[in-house]
Amino acid sequence: MSLPKATRRFVDEFRVLPGKPAKLAKRDPAACLGLEDSPDMDAAAAKNVARIADLQQLLYADARFSVLIVLQGIDASGKDGTTRHLLTGVNPQGVRVTSFKAPSADELGHDYLWRIHNVCPARGMIGLFNRSHYEDVLVVRVHELVTKKIWSQRYRQINQFERHLAENNTIILKFFLHISKDEQRKRLQERIDNPKKNWKMQVKDLDERKLWDDYMRAYDDALTECSTEHAPWHVIPADRKWFRDLAISQIVADTLDGLDLRYPKPTFDPSKFRVQ
Ligand code: AMP
Ligand code: MG
Repeated sequence: MSLPKATRRFVDEFRVLPGKPAKLAKRDPAACLGLEDSPDMDAAAAKNVARIADLQQLLYADARFSVLIVLQGIDASGKDGTTRHLLTGVNPQGVRVTSFKAPSADELGHDYLWRIHNVCPARGMIGLFNRSHYEDVLVVRVHELVTKKIWSQRYRQINQFERHLAENNTIILKFFLHISKDEQRKRLQERIDNPKKNWKMQVKDLDERKLWDDYMRAYDDALTECSTEHAPWHVIPADRKWFRDLAISQIVADTLDGLDLRYPKPTFDPSKFRVQ
């Protein structure tokens, strides 16, 4: 099936250009570039997911690159659902998903990037961060867990850290799952109303929701300061789950495709061996 042209525009539409403001308020969380929820779109997303699974095998065999996917977003923005969709079909040995929670006492005893670097993907692997080092300029800023002097230096530190990873063959793709405040209300309410979703509900999420504007300001700054050529941010309209999944899977699959991955030369001459 050939993809509609619009899906080729995802990167252009959603990437935060380095040095340019992210301007979250001007981006529509329900945008879908004129596409409609349809079996064709489901098929396109499924095809992307299958391509990612195939390309991961080649990534592993090629063993030159690591791929790091960073997912950030407010509560109920779809980080878990995106992870599930994107990595369906990938060999479990080829991926490592890390969900970052509030740091432990041990982690707090180190600099904030220590726990991050420790779980960055090895060559041949896809690493996915469900939350990340960006929490250290988001929740940490909103709740004033450190001073402004400290969190404001972190943009530069994060850019330098990510450059270091990139120069050591890590391909970095960062996605902000952009939902509207009303969509969050619906999703949190569903967690209260649906007994099967109660477990996902944390009462503190309702307090966090009251800080919506503070979070959006913190996100705006983080995306503006830390979208670089070597580690770009994408603002993905995420009110519609089908579109979110299509857009992210397309960008990840196309990026893997663009790496020109290849099987390494055999370490022996296959014409000279025969299994007896
Ligand atoms: P959840 O994603 O629902 O499992 O929640 C994880 C929680 O950990 C969220 O409330 C995050 O804000 C919090 N968290 C993650 N990283 C940090 C951090 N570096 N400092 C403080 N809180 C964090
Ligand atoms: Mg939560």
